[in-house]
Amino acid sequence: IVDVKGLNKSFGSHLVLKDIDLTVAPSQVVVIIGPSGSGKSTLLRCLNGLETAEGGTAVVCGHLVVEAGRMMPEPLLDALRAEVGMVFQSFNLFPHLNVLDNITLAPTCLRGVPRKTAQEQGLRLLRKVGLEHKARDYPGTLSGGQKQRVAIARALAMEPKVMLFDEPTSALDPELVGEVLQVMKDLAAEGMTMLIVTHEMGFAREVADVVVVMDHGSIVESGPPSGIFTSPREARTRSFLQTML
Ligand code: ATP
Ligand code: MG
Repeated sequence: IVDVKGLNKSFGSHLVLKDIDLTVAPSQVVVIIGPSGSGKSTLLRCLNGLETAEGGTAVVCGHLVVEAGRMMPEPLLDALRAEVGMVFQSFNLFPHLNVLDNITLAPTCLRGVPRKTAQEQGLRLLRKVGLEHKARDYPGTLSGGQKQRVAIARALAMEPKVMLFDEPTSALDPELVGEVLQVMKDLAAEGMTMLIVTHEMGFAREVADVVVVMDHGSIVESGPPSGIFTSPREARTRSFLQTML
């Protein structure tokens, strides 16, 4: 579903992604870890065309997002983004819309799904994230964990083929992290393909099929969590994991 080869990206003269190779197979959960500034967010953003890469190739859901360093034209990116769900650290809900309307907006406006159908589906997704009773409430009245669960439901409403998560729990109070991780675990169990940047090492250990370690724009090593967490091959992985204890 995701196939990246030799991806390069710089901001000015600063190379922030260096020859990145990454594949995510259907139903796989790939977790990216690594120190601040290592390029994790930039990599995710390149995959749905929020950043422009200058070298390499990236295929996402069959769309050639980057081909030999050339970005897919903007109009085509809309089709890509409709198939790629993205959840950020900040929830970015529309404050003037209630929870259900936040979820039905994209399917009704971008996909032409009839309002009633979208609402039924929205309520089903809210049930899945444990928030059916909040459908008519406004985002401002929700806790951070509830907002993030709504943000996940909203992304799912477009029926994405892959979900990208960028530190979805980093902005949350510690006691709210678990409820969001649980929703992500449920998605993994249902076979959703996911690429997740997180500092939650316990979650990575439990849910990831593959853990990718990034540092200074490069992939240092990758493999099943059992290997990465118990016997990392690279010194840079060991020192990063030490900082996470
Ligand atoms: P964190 O864990 O703090 O979120 P990260 O691994 O997600 O870090 P990125 O946000 O991808 O790191 O940033 C990678 C590098 O690119 C950093 O050195 C950062 O300063 C730089 N960078 C990111 N966005 C921009 C931008 N818009 N303009 C210039 N430099 C940028
Ligand atoms: Mg980041």
